[in-house]
Amino acid sequence: MRAALRRRLRLAALTDALAVLDGDIWSTRCLHCRRTLQLRDDGEPLGHTTLEHVVPQAWFGRHAAAALTARVGDDADDPRNLALACARCNHDKGKGHDARGPRDARAREVIGALLDTRLLRWRPPPAAV
Ligand SMILES: [Zn+2]
Repeated sequence: MRAALRRRLRLAALTDALAVLDGDIWSTRCLHCRRTLQLRDDGEPLGHTTLEHVVPQAWFGRHAAAALTARVGDDADDPRNLALACARCNHDKGKGHDARGPRDARAREVIGALLDTRLLRWRPPPAAV
């Protein structure tokens, strides 16, 4: 797996208030369904763990999504926009809300609520990451 992706997976765990490190293994819960997810401390995902961009990467730069992207500094890879999700939830979101695009009011509402959830679980990263 690419180093950049592993780094983002680890950053999602470091900034997730629900994530607990036990030895070399992080445990947390899926942003959507709260199923238990794990990854190694080097960022290697275990089981069904995937990296979720809460506001879809394709929405950045889109006028209709401006209010959402501004909440994460207009950077798709800002850690506030990164979360851990199980593969099934991530896939379903991609096929559903993400694909409908930011001009769809229901899609914006769902993504906004997910971002609320992510930011409620936010914790600042340690000084040296
Ligand atoms: Zn899930």
